[in-house]
Amino acid sequence: MKTLKDIRIGEKAVVTKVNGEGALRQHLLDMGVIPGVEVTVVKYAPMGDPIEIMIHGYELTLRLEDARQIETKPVPAGAETEKPESRKHGKTLHPGLGEGGKFHPKGSGDPLPDGTVLTFALVGNQNSGKTTLFNRLTGSNQHVGNFPGVTVDRKDGVIQGHPDTLITDLPGIYSMSPYSSEEIVSRNFVLNEKPKAIINIVDATNIERNLYLTMQLLEMDVPMVVALNMMDEVIGSGGSIDVNAMEEALKVPVVTISAAKNEGIEELVDHALHIAKYQERPIRQDFCDETDHGGAVHRCLHGIAHLIEDHARSAGIPVRFAASKVIEGDELVFSQLNLDQNEKEMIEHIILQMEMERGLDRSAAIADMRFAFIHKVCDKAVIRIAESKEKVRSEKIDRILTGQYTAIPAFILIMAAVFWLTFNVIGAALQNLLEMGINVLTGRADQLLSALNVNETIHHLLIDGVFAGVGSVLSFLPIIVTLFFFLSLMEDSGYIARVAFVMDKLLRKIGLSGRSIVPMLIGFGCSVPAIMSTRTLPSERDRKMTILLIPFMSCSAKLPIYAFFVNAFFPKRGALIMTGLYVLGILLSILIARIYKNTLFKGSAAPFVMELPNYRIPSAQNVIRLLWEKAKDFLQRAFSVILVATIIVWFLQSFDLHFNLTEDSHSSILAFLSGGLVPLFKPIGLGDWRIVTSLISGVMAKESVTSTMEVLFGQDLSTILTPLAAASMLVFSLLYTPCIAAIAAVKREMGHKWAISVVLWQCAVAWMAAYVVRIIGLAIGMR
Ligand code: GDP
Ligand code: MG
Repeated sequence: MKTLKDIRIGEKAVVTKVNGEGALRQHLLDMGVIPGVEVTVVKYAPMGDPIEIMIHGYELTLRLEDARQIETKPVPAGAETEKPESRKHGKTLHPGLGEGGKFHPKGSGDPLPDGTVLTFALVGNQNSGKTTLFNRLTGSNQHVGNFPGVTVDRKDGVIQGHPDTLITDLPGIYSMSPYSSEEIVSRNFVLNEKPKAIINIVDATNIERNLYLTMQLLEMDVPMVVALNMMDEVIGSGGSIDVNAMEEALKVPVVTISAAKNEGIEELVDHALHIAKYQERPIRQDFCDETDHGGAVHRCLHGIAHLIEDHARSAGIPVRFAASKVIEGDELVFSQLNLDQNEKEMIEHIILQMEMERGLDRSAAIADMRFAFIHKVCDKAVIRIAESKEKVRSEKIDRILTGQYTAIPAFILIMAAVFWLTFNVIGAALQNLLEMGINVLTGRADQLLSALNVNETIHHLLIDGVFAGVGSVLSFLPIIVTLFFFLSLMEDSGYIARVAFVMDKLLRKIGLSGRSIVPMLIGFGCSVPAIMSTRTLPSERDRKMTILLIPFMSCSAKLPIYAFFVNAFFPKRGALIMTGLYVLGILLSILIARIYKNTLFKGSAAPFVMELPNYRIPSAQNVIRLLWEKAKDFLQRAFSVILVATIIVWFLQSFDLHFNLTEDSHSSILAFLSGGLVPLFKPIGLGDWRIVTSLISGVMAKESVTSTMEVLFGQDLSTILTPLAAASMLVFSLLYTPCIAAIAAVKREMGHKWAISVVLWQCAVAWMAAYVVRIIGLAIGMR
């Protein structure tokens, strides 16, 4: 018996059996790896694992050990798939795309009373264009928060021009199985918050896989409209979709759109408002075929649906949805139904009977039933003339970016280019400009205050406290925005998914999966979104471990610190030292991950089953919106936390213990307070109360280290510290406790015990590393 692993590159095979169990198996089935499907092996990752396959017209990656679970047989001779050109639609088969009310006499039902807020859930696969559509629909009226109880990002917004609406962007999911927190969030949202309607966004270039979710959504018995997105690509490659046939089959309105090109959005909104207003529920929720294999699945589904009808009603779960989930073995639904022993046994017998008749196990049988229906719909309604231009382009790009010999050099080159452009070119140029502006402004303010004869102390506070402190932080805005710009390009274009594919094997060596690379890369920007993005990781173990490693990725807020010291002490070796710090963080994280893997987090990394989306040019609107959000966030911090921190520090260092203004900051309150910690920092060469204070203020926000130094030291830094102390300081700053916002994020994700441990652990690691630096420095004769 050949498994998928034994198929050679470029060869096709037919899946006969999917072995294994639990979440991974369900996920494979949900992604379309079902008995009878044809797969092509595309390539192996440069390190020989994972493997990339083509299935249902899209690219899926999985590990070799999982590929070994999939049994195959050769493609039967003569069963070559029919050439698409042989099927043709007449030219005018889809007039008037998706006329509203086709299946429901318009306006006859009883509409929801005027003034009811029409709530919508926006549901779709990852990379189907949800964010793009959401931004189109809501314009600037959006609110970002979290789903109650969990930290998955929740975006709400009002549809432009329709004040009585509220649309929620749900996490991208492939199925309604309860195996990832995203899937659970999405289905609980639909079940418990009862949106008035669902807008299901479907990637039309990848329609078979996307409709799999659509079918489960139809079972939820909530009014729904299907938005076929990316139609520009479908049409661009000569394909077409017969919308009327699709509507006929699904019995819900189907609208073709292009979110990126802003086409069809108005029509979509019209339909969405209509079905929500008139509460037009899907007419059809029944996709099993009574003639298919003797109707085994059909009879099983209906039998169980009748059996559990009353239970499902009282639990508030749509009956059909409950029935298919019970068959799939969904523990969550099962327990909510509150069945008694007798009923449970009956259900089990019905399912066993079906398994026997159908010759497939329960999960595979249901997945197969769904895909069989999808194939029927697509055969009728979808024409593909050729592979889409975007697909062809993606394959070409991937020859290099995931190619056997080129992938890793390309990754290193791309990352190097990103950092070089951010720190040396674009970000730096903008930063200089901003710094000039700030200096001019400071000078003007200084003159003005003198001219107005403002009180000396206030003058001092404003210029040496606020302007110096906040100004030094503000000048980093361009670098941070530039870094996020590149990270979002990498993410939206589809490159990060490739990085995960390429790096999976490497990350597995430290006990993680390729997906963990995403949060880690974001960690170079800011730990807070990085920690939050671990939500996309399918296993709790991977998630925790990744979160604990993120503080080792030098976040962009630490750059001001590096720049500050490099300028003062090692002006000629700036690039080298900065790079060195990043690399040191990464090396330490690898070392520590290996320790975690053998102690705290025994076990193996989560499975790696992931779609590789086509490369796409990210929409400018998405990128600009993201940058604006980041900039706003940063400015808010600069003018809240950092401003307050600066003022407090200024105050504490300008007054002595008797609250008299003091010229000599050695006698200040601050010197007294930080003095207690100085002995702790002596061994690493940082036994100066001003340094200790700066580091403490860095806990509020890393940028404050610089602003505090600016306030405390003024100009003469290099006369007070030695280069060796500066080196210790750099390493300590790289590693010590994350800022309060990141600590809060850790607490939200993992609880306060972990948050406290992270703080203590990072400080301990930082101290040890700085100590090692000092020892080595002394040994090689540094001062
Ligand atoms: P999400 O993951 O579902 O939120 O998807 P995004 O909104 O981030 O979109 C994924 C990618 O598809 C981005 O690069 C978008 O620019 C692109 N995209 C979205 N809608 C369209 C469309 O209608 N046509 C084309 N060609 N690209 C699109
Ligand atoms: Mg998105």
